[in-house]
Amino acid sequence: MATGLVTHPDCLAHVTPAHVHEQPARLALVLQALEGLPVFRYAAPLASDDSILTLHTPAYLDHIRASVPAEGFTMLDPDTDEETFLSPSSLPALFRTVGGVQKAIDLVLSGELTNAFAAVRPPGHHAERELPMGFCFFGNVALGAKYALGHHGLARVAIVDFDVHHGNGTQALLWDEPRALVITSQQMPLWPDTGDVSETGAHDNVVNVPLAPGTGGKAMRDAYEARVFPRLDAFRPELLLVSAGFDCHAADPLSDLAWVEEDYEWLTHRLCDIADRHCGGRMVSTLEGGYDLDALAASAATHVRVLTERSG
Ligand SMILES: [Zn+2]
Repeated sequence: MATGLVTHPDCLAHVTPAHVHEQPARLALVLQALEGLPVFRYAAPLASDDSILTLHTPAYLDHIRASVPAEGFTMLDPDTDEETFLSPSSLPALFRTVGGVQKAIDLVLSGELTNAFAAVRPPGHHAERELPMGFCFFGNVALGAKYALGHHGLARVAIVDFDVHHGNGTQALLWDEPRALVITSQQMPLWPDTGDVSETGAHDNVVNVPLAPGTGGKAMRDAYEARVFPRLDAFRPELLLVSAGFDCHAADPLSDLAWVEEDYEWLTHRLCDIADRHCGGRMVSTLEGGYDLDALAASAATHVRVLTERSG
């Protein structure tokens, strides 16, 4: 069995203003860092409108399409953080990011691969049903869960989101979905200021794991051992999806957790253990945040290297 890497050059064509941390260079450096790893490479296809409409509304999809500028940028989130911009070539990137996650799920569920990493952008875990937010437009990973449940007919899919920011979009999109367990760890307090332990979903299917600023890998490991892995074991997912943001890193400019590459290595191994126990190893990980370019590239390479070791 093998590890897959799903990506597409269109994901580099979504450009953002110079002050925005979410830049094409992030993905370019991740791809460079993954060169030489023993992965099978696949092109991310364009997602269908129908698959995006499983969690977003037709009016929202129309709004996104209509907001693509002929030149320059369109800001889509003036009421939240003024960081979410579309550029003239953004649309294929948005659709290929959703499609890339779906392709990775197809490959893993068909048995062609054990696990896969979707190296795509823009990220997705802040996007809500009708709300672009925090560099995100479509709920890439939440849509992946819906696709695995609907298109592939799975009964239980779990998502683990270890990005430093709360996966508010994933949580909101799957709040009412009892077949999805959403577990998200985040620095708190930190933008977007949601993700309290009291937010548990309509079916006790959401688990929030706040981590205090200034704490490091030891606190993360303790929290995952105490609150994350037992919930995953009790849920017995048939597929594990991961929102892999690497902005908990000590070098990241947007946060104050002090994770290092060894923490991502440990966490990836433990998530593979869960996948081995319940899913026949089936795991699909998708790039979310990570804004120190060197730390992002090194951490993503560590994460994917572990995936390749565990699929061999
Ligand atoms: Zn983040």
